[in-house]
Amino acid sequence: MSTTIEHYIDDARVSGGDHYQDVCNPATGEVTGRVALGSAETVDQAVAAARAAFPEWSETPPIRRARVLFRYLQLLQERKDDLARIITAEHGKVFTDAQGEVERGIDILEFACGIPHLLKGDHTDQVSRGIDNWTVRQPLGVVAGVTPFNFPVMVPMWMYPIAIAAGNTFVLKPSPTDPSASLFMAELLREAGLPKGVFNVVQGDKVAVDALLEHPHVKALSFVGSTPIAQYIYETGARHGKRVQGLGGAKNHMVVMPDADVEKTVDALMGAAYGSAGERCMAISVAVLVGDVADKVVQELARRAAELRITDGRDLKAEMGPIVSRAAHERITGHIQKGVDAGASLVVDGRGFKPTEAGLENGFWLGATLFDHVTPEMAIYREEIFGPVLACVRVPDFSEAVRLINEHEFGNGVSCFTRDGNIAREFSRRIEVGMVGINVPIPVPMAWHGFGGWKKSLFGDMHAYGSEGVRFYTKQKSIMQRWPESIEKGAEFAMPVAK
Ligand code: NAD
Repeated sequence: MSTTIEHYIDDARVSGGDHYQDVCNPATGEVTGRVALGSAETVDQAVAAARAAFPEWSETPPIRRARVLFRYLQLLQERKDDLARIITAEHGKVFTDAQGEVERGIDILEFACGIPHLLKGDHTDQVSRGIDNWTVRQPLGVVAGVTPFNFPVMVPMWMYPIAIAAGNTFVLKPSPTDPSASLFMAELLREAGLPKGVFNVVQGDKVAVDALLEHPHVKALSFVGSTPIAQYIYETGARHGKRVQGLGGAKNHMVVMPDADVEKTVDALMGAAYGSAGERCMAISVAVLVGDVADKVVQELARRAAELRITDGRDLKAEMGPIVSRAAHERITGHIQKGVDAGASLVVDGRGFKPTEAGLENGFWLGATLFDHVTPEMAIYREEIFGPVLACVRVPDFSEAVRLINEHEFGNGVSCFTRDGNIAREFSRRIEVGMVGINVPIPVPMAWHGFGGWKKSLFGDMHAYGSEGVRFYTKQKSIMQRWPESIEKGAEFAMPVAK
């Protein structure tokens, strides 16, 4: 059955615009719905609703805002598997992975429930005789989030729980590839008692994003997606006077030192390279194999990649699901061909893979793919593929591994597998990447630490969520105060100093 996925404005589903895009189940290739693509007028309507809700919501004491989020947390806990099923149906990732995504979103919500504490300012008594100075953080107004297809729940939850807890009102523009989760969350927020207009959803594409970027009443925009769009959003948003954080693409390396435990390292590489079909911004797409560990790792990876259980994500035995769309499938297979043409050794070729189960014949299937002897000049090394393709690069020593990674234009996540404490320490200190794992393949920081890469993986100053998220969604005000009893007589013409 095909459904129409609409916008959500002022606590109501709203249709809008003449344009629609198909939404597919990637496992079957079947069109399951169509999503409205919002126009500038739809954006205007959503921003107007958010703007009207702002005065009352921002005046609501933080502890009362937090109580609404606590109720939302309760509802989300009760309904989290329903939300995970929605993710799998439109994204294709395996159900347990979708459950994990929701859980990591819930982490941020729990963090945001602590907003009264997070918004505490600082205070200095007696900066001069009879004068005190303190700072408070106030909400910005209407803020927006533009999110990618690969985490339709977790990435929006990097943004809106903190934004609305801090007293802002929010407009979410989710990916049109898997838009249904946004409406589920919006309706659960309403059920939790969030006042109307505080959280709105505009479905759409570039048209809606541009309207948000140019809208005079949108004060800040958080973006997560590919690097070219992140850069565009950052530049355009800044030109329109907005605060912007633009999280971009990645090419995450995992260094395997000769002393690493091969079996456990290969376990880690399998999950990090092929989990969610490699469609994670923290997926490992390059294994940097140091010294004589290379042959052993490649041999074991090849055996395991060929045995990966790939099928419909709803099947609980699935380890990997389909690729998100036909277009993504074509892009990834094009990259694989480029690797072959450039002379890399294709050890496992996922092209041509089809699951045997009935009903999946038209899905967007690709098997796990493994390249060896990849070199830094090759496009499959330089460019983000965003699919189940792992490139192995062989280097003679640790310094070469560090040099290689530091020269790469992306700097999102990185990992090093070793038993040597000094190597681990040196790696963490010298590597020019925003998020580092030591024997942890996908070091996505916890809710209270904040998420962000370096170099072309992040445009802007502040990382997502954690205390950086609170700073992003608030502006600081400094207040200096004294009472008439301490005001000295006479005009002062010199710069005031502490007395
Ligand atoms: P994308 O850049 O194509 O789309 C992201 C969002 O931008 C979507 O909402 C989309 O509708 C919108 N958009 C697309 N083209 C646009 C344009 N020309 N102008 C304005 N808006 C536009 O990314 P995607 O394919 O949905 O997601 C995958 C990408 O996201 C990968 O590059 C991945 O690395 C990245 N990603 C990064 C992080 C991170 O934290 N750094 C997290 C998740 C995903």
